[in-house]
This record gives sequence, structure tokens and C-alpha cells, in this order.
Amino acid sequence: MEVEMLNSTAAKDLVGEACVVCEEVKSVGIHLYTAFICKECEKDIIHTDTDNPKYKYYLKQLKKVNNPEIYS
Ligand SMILES: [Zn+2]
Repeated sequence: MEVEMLNSTAAKDLVGEACVVCEEVKSVGIHLYTAFICKECEKDIIHTDTDNPKYKYYLKQLKKVNNPEIYS
């Protein structure tokens, strides 16, 4: 019984959430609206210049988060 409880707790920490930017499941990150952004991507976005083509990619990924269709 005790072992089972420990396992479920550990599993929760390990599973994490799917990051909207890199689409990988990470356990550490921030929430933006309903979306999850992992720590690595958050850092990348902050340090990416708006002139950088990568920035456009981030915006595109983040736009999925703020989709108005959710409210229809
Ligand atoms: Zn990510």
C-alpha cells in the first residue's frame, strides 16, 4: 500500500505537461492562459530577439493558446 502511494506521487511529478512551444512533456514551466510553457522555452522566448525568425515560430505556437475559437 505504502509503495503504491509513493509511486503515484512520483509519477505525478514525472509526467508534467506538454509544452505548447516544443511540444515535449516537461515537469517544470509556467502557465499562460490554459497552456503550459516549459522552463527552457520560456527562457528562449525571453532571450530571443523579435527580429529573430525563431521569434515568429514562438508567436505562432503561442497563438494556438489564444485561439478565439475556444469561446464559440
Ligand atoms: Zn518547451
